[in-house]
Amino acid sequence: MLEHDVIIVGGGLAGCRAALEIKKLNPSADVALVAKTHPIRSHSVAAQGGIAASLQNVDRDDDWKAHAFDTVKGSDYLADQDAVEFLTKEAPEVIIELEHLGVLFSRLEDGKIAQRAFGGHSHKRTCYAADKTGHAMLHELVNNLRRNHVKIYEEWYVMELILEDSPLINPPQPPFVRGEIEKPLVRGEIEKPFVREEMEKPTKEAKGVVMFNIHDGHLQVVRSKAVMFATGGYGRVFNTTSNDYASSGDGLAMTAKAGLPLEDMEFVQFHPTGLYPVGVLISEAVRGEGAYLRNSEGERFMARYAPNQMELAPRDITSRAIVTEIRAGRGINADGSAGGVYVHLDLTHMGKEKIMSRVPFCWEEAHRLVGVDAIYEPMPVRPTAHYCMGGIPVNTDGRVRMNGNKLTEGFFAGGECACVSVHGANRLGSNSLLECVVYGRRVGRSIANYILDRTMPEIDEEKYLQANEKRIQDLLNQEGDTRINSLRQNFQDAMTEHCGVFRTEEVMTEGLKQIRQLIAKYGQIFLDDKQRQWNTELVEALELQNIIIVGEMILTSAIHRQESRGAHSREDYPTRDDRNFLQHTLASYSPEGVTVEYMPVVVTMFEPKERKY
Ligand SMILES: Cc1cc2nc3c(=O)[nH]c(=O)nc-3n(C[C@H](O)[C@H](O)[C@H](O)COP(=O)(O)OP(=O)(O)OC[C@H]3O[C@@H](n4cnc5c(N)ncnc54)[C@H](O)[C@@H]3O)c2cc1C
Repeated sequence: MLEHDVIIVGGGLAGCRAALEIKKLNPSADVALVAKTHPIRSHSVAAQGGIAASLQNVDRDDDWKAHAFDTVKGSDYLADQDAVEFLTKEAPEVIIELEHLGVLFSRLEDGKIAQRAFGGHSHKRTCYAADKTGHAMLHELVNNLRRNHVKIYEEWYVMELILEDSPLINPPQPPFVRGEIEKPLVRGEIEKPFVREEMEKPTKEAKGVVMFNIHDGHLQVVRSKAVMFATGGYGRVFNTTSNDYASSGDGLAMTAKAGLPLEDMEFVQFHPTGLYPVGVLISEAVRGEGAYLRNSEGERFMARYAPNQMELAPRDITSRAIVTEIRAGRGINADGSAGGVYVHLDLTHMGKEKIMSRVPFCWEEAHRLVGVDAIYEPMPVRPTAHYCMGGIPVNTDGRVRMNGNKLTEGFFAGGECACVSVHGANRLGSNSLLECVVYGRRVGRSIANYILDRTMPEIDEEKYLQANEKRIQDLLNQEGDTRINSLRQNFQDAMTEHCGVFRTEEVMTEGLKQIRQLIAKYGQIFLDDKQRQWNTELVEALELQNIIIVGEMILTSAIHRQESRGAHSREDYPTRDDRNFLQHTLASYSPEGVTVEYMPVVVTMFEPKERKY
């Protein structure tokens, strides 16, 4: 059995930043990082537009409080405000640290880090490296991992989180202390934030993971004093997404299967400008630099939905506006006529020099993938599944919650797979890279402390090897007539059709029925490739299982939230309902179905108000 003081699953920005922090604070700690891709191929590398921080390089009157207010308002008041405070206060410092690590940000004439406008932000505060910000950041972080002797397991697929009952009783969590602001009433059962009997029960503890070597097909148990998940998002639950193929929600599904809840899974961000028909992202930076959205009549329709912020309204509002235009027959067809399924993103007034210096990669994407030269013609765009606001519930030190009352032992999460919650019901652009580095650093610190007085846990290695070996063999031996591709496509289509930008109870209930029928087909999957070495079909089969679990959790959480808030837009409940739903969903998985509870929102600075842009 392998062992390390810390095992971090995920080589994106969150995992790398955490690993670096642990090594910085405790150079002798034995830290390992495992990723199913090469770390540099993590989805973070694709981040384009930038990372927010109130550096005041462009807007002198910006500060962390303005950033915090924009974030909370953008979240439709569902973000936990203590977590937002850390995010926005620590932002300038983490940018300077990145700069010192070697990240090459774009510059102003005076040599300071450049900052651009982004949707929902009231000031120009998004720092960037042209439109390749994630690339610039991740490459430097991975270089620094090697320099700091972090052990990297690349192209290993983690199959299971080892989580067992723990004799420990952790002290009650004080996460729901509120400041002076009187919080609106919440549902009966969660008015008591702490349930004494729950607090006095022992908790669960993470002891390691089981992982599968994609090269040669062997299994390995790793035990560790702390496990961190930084496994990224789940865009592949939907048929059109900006995310890479690896974004299959593995960490979320493994956590749910281990018996822990997932928070706020109904909040899926659909980015307004996915390039049609491929779905890849055209960064919000393009609108930040001045591009317009136009319908089939050539009209800048955002004037009707967000007259002040126009194209720079938050993403939930802009995506709904685009879908509303398309539904009203003002979408565009390939021959330019009305009634089509996309709208135009128009850069033609910006000029070649600005386009090629500020957003060259977006120009290249449109040129290469759909043959559009954006200097002279508009790009076809429509919303694409982009970001996961919910995730593994954690406190502001990245410790994973058992439920609303207590924490697990030895288990941490950060980055997109975690829900701390700084994005609430809708994330603002450029706040996710920021979350990865601010909370990557915070989780790293908390792990560095945590392992100091923790002993290496005991694990029955054979039991875990056998169970996972059986899972693999069963898949290889299975004699069915269902192909992974078609089952995955049917599932993604069902999710997209029944749980998209606009939702109703009727449509979602039908969706749940359909996906439960598809789940039954998983047992009939047939794999062509029966080898153990480099069997990507086998890995896809394992990923599909996770995609399905995550999809079911999204749909069930969405059915239960009978209001419209942020990205969750219910046509049958069109208004926000703070009295009943100013609270976080905690959904728990079992093969029989998903159950839902609620947990209060932390309100410390800004009282919930109606959201207007
Ligand atoms: C196209 C695009 C552009 C974006 N642009 C911006 C932007 O400009 N600004 C911004 O703030 N945000 C942006 N985002 C969002 C942001 O990039 C992500 O939220 C963030 O990078 C996620 O980082 P992460 O470290 O949490 O996970 P990721 O970078 O997704 O990394 C996940 C890691 O987990 C590993 N992993 C997953 N499952 C397993 C498993 N079972 N076993 C082993 N390893 C596993 C993967 O191999 C990978 O290394 C963008 C997102 C996309 C898709």
